[in-house]
Amino acid sequence: MTQTDKIITRFAPSPSGDLHLGHGYSAKLNYDFAEKHSGTFILRIEDIDHLRCKSEFEQSIFDDLNWLDLKWQTPIRRQSEHFDDYKKALDKLDQMGLLYPCFCTRKDIRSEIEDSSRAPHMRPKLGPEGIIYPGICRDLSHKEQTQKIADGIPHALRFNMAKALSLITEPLYWTDLKTGEQLADPEMLGDVVLARKDFPTSYHLSVVIDDHIQNISHVIRGQDLYYASHFHRLLQHLLGLNKLIYDHHPLLSTPDGNRLAKRDKSITLKSLRESGVRPDELDQIIKKYL
Ligand code: GLU
Repeated sequence: MTQTDKIITRFAPSPSGDLHLGHGYSAKLNYDFAEKHSGTFILRIEDIDHLRCKSEFEQSIFDDLNWLDLKWQTPIRRQSEHFDDYKKALDKLDQMGLLYPCFCTRKDIRSEIEDSSRAPHMRPKLGPEGIIYPGICRDLSHKEQTQKIADGIPHALRFNMAKALSLITEPLYWTDLKTGEQLADPEMLGDVVLARKDFPTSYHLSVVIDDHIQNISHVIRGQDLYYASHFHRLLQHLLGLNKLIYDHHPLLSTPDGNRLAKRDKSITLKSLRESGVRPDELDQIIKKYL
């Protein structure tokens, strides 16, 4: 358990589109778990990406969750209102020498990968989130970094995974609700971006900080974030944050095997409620996509 014995779960959607059936499933799992253990259910709005997030989608999230009769604690936390918290964590990692500026464009990364794939001994490594960043900017000298920044070249901040792992002296574990202690293996994510070029944080950093600040005890989220949990445990360790319990639920998919995505309009919660589906029918519908 965490420092507090109270069960606190959260549903943390991004208001970048309408929620689909899979979000409804995830929200209900979190809500039911908190209810069952006389805990608290939190709704967090993950809106760091100001280009994709819109207030009309936030309203739609409220409408969807109200339709599902889920009650959440107020006031809610909106990530866009807490950039200072993420900055503090970034500064701490920076002081530990674990961040470096990365000036690469997508094109730079693509051409580096194409070049290296021609040399068999330098094949790009594939991680669970795609090809691992090939480290182009990792070893730039301080002078090169300063010059590029002075030239106004936009940069992200990347996490130096190898260096971070060299600081870990004992095996690191995270707790899976069903299977118990798991050895954290974050290396497969490579040098993750912790602050993006277009805004000064990232999904990975913000979620870890918020889960700590909000005293979340159990993170129940999709299987697609299984590998993220390995990395989140490492960040928690480095930043001295609470250790949480994780559960990864299956993702919903259509009968032809496609995962539900925000762009798939047909099965948004909004379309279901507007077409007269009753919320108590939702579990039956979800079963068809599991
Ligand atoms: N905002 C993230 C999403 O919508 C939340 C992921 C998480 O629960 O950690 O996928």
